[in-house]
Amino acid sequence: MSNVTGSFQLMKSLNRSLVLNKIRSAGAVSRAAIAKETKLTPPTVTNIVNELIESNLVRESEMGTSKGGRKPVLLTINDQEFFIIGLDVGARKIRGVLTDLNAKELVADHAALYQDISADQLTERMTQMIEDLIQSAGVERTQVVGVGVGMHGIVDHEQGVARFAPTYHLKEIPIKEQLETAVKLPVFVENDAKAMALGELWFGAGRGCDNLIAVNIGVGIGAGIIFNNRLYHGHNAVAGELGHTIIDINGSPCSCGSFGCLQTVAGGDSIAERAARELASGRESLLREKIAGKDEINGEIVYECALAGDQLCIDILQETGRYLGVGMTNVINLMNPAKLIIGGGVSKAGDFILGPLQDVVSQRALTDEVKQTNISTAELQEHATVIGAVTIVLADLFTPDLLNAK
Ligand SMILES: [Zn+2]
Repeated sequence: MSNVTGSFQLMKSLNRSLVLNKIRSAGAVSRAAIAKETKLTPPTVTNIVNELIESNLVRESEMGTSKGGRKPVLLTINDQEFFIIGLDVGARKIRGVLTDLNAKELVADHAALYQDISADQLTERMTQMIEDLIQSAGVERTQVVGVGVGMHGIVDHEQGVARFAPTYHLKEIPIKEQLETAVKLPVFVENDAKAMALGELWFGAGRGCDNLIAVNIGVGIGAGIIFNNRLYHGHNAVAGELGHTIIDINGSPCSCGSFGCLQTVAGGDSIAERAARELASGRESLLREKIAGKDEINGEIVYECALAGDQLCIDILQETGRYLGVGMTNVINLMNPAKLIIGGGVSKAGDFILGPLQDVVSQRALTDEVKQTNISTAELQEHATVIGAVTIVLADLFTPDLLNAK
């Protein structure tokens, strides 16, 4: 492990995180104000700030105003000195970014994944992307604070193990252990929807919100739950597996082994399957010429045809929106979030899906208040999970409590 990263790990303590987060959230703040607001003693604050300045993570600037006399010295985060890497490992591809400490993207990369990939090939792909990002950004490895990974499927965030990645039929991938050995940096692994919730909480539509649920709708459907300003994992890290809540007891088989899960009627693959079924039954659609000569229908093609006014595709997306509305109504009645944020590939189908989704919630949620629950799309759009992966590393540095709720 590198020296600088090593010293980050050493200096971690609740008080240091408290001071660091005060500086981060204030933008610029004096030592006296930190002491006052954190209730730490002035000598403690001075000691911690000295360590932070020595490690180059914080710097002094004279931007303050005063009534005569010298200007107070303000502390700011040195966001140009250190960097974070985030990876979004989805069902079809890996997306990677290297950012500054404000999660501003400096370099981005992506790579396609194939279906029969092995666990070792998958972690090799991730390693390669991390190395490429460091190289193309032209930064030193010692300047990278850590790597955050937003991984689809069931993730044990404490061990950094992907317990089950359904798209690849892989189990027990020791991502943290393998990546840390390969890239010599601290690695944090979290479920992709949970990462998305963190990204939206700090940098997107969820800023300032203590209770929110971010729903990642792609091939699968997952939710990240921020409950009382903590990321909620549940007793076995399964909390948020919204795609596998059952909405039709007589429904189609699901990849999880159950039947009638929300994912089987509202996930990306179900959109393509329904379109293929309708075409096979002889219904007219633009889809026919669109897919002529190409391999197969996917959600994106259905969306393009809907935009072009194709009724079959519009019907399919609207029906998807109604199913999602039922799923979201269940979530609202169960958790009563202040905000529901919709992200992922399917959410790109915008109003075709969001309109019917909102209609169902406003008709079926329990009370007048929750019928009005604030529902919006992810402000970070398709970057929500990868910026969320960056946020895991930032949260570990600034507010470790956020990550440690069961
Ligand atoms: Zn299922």
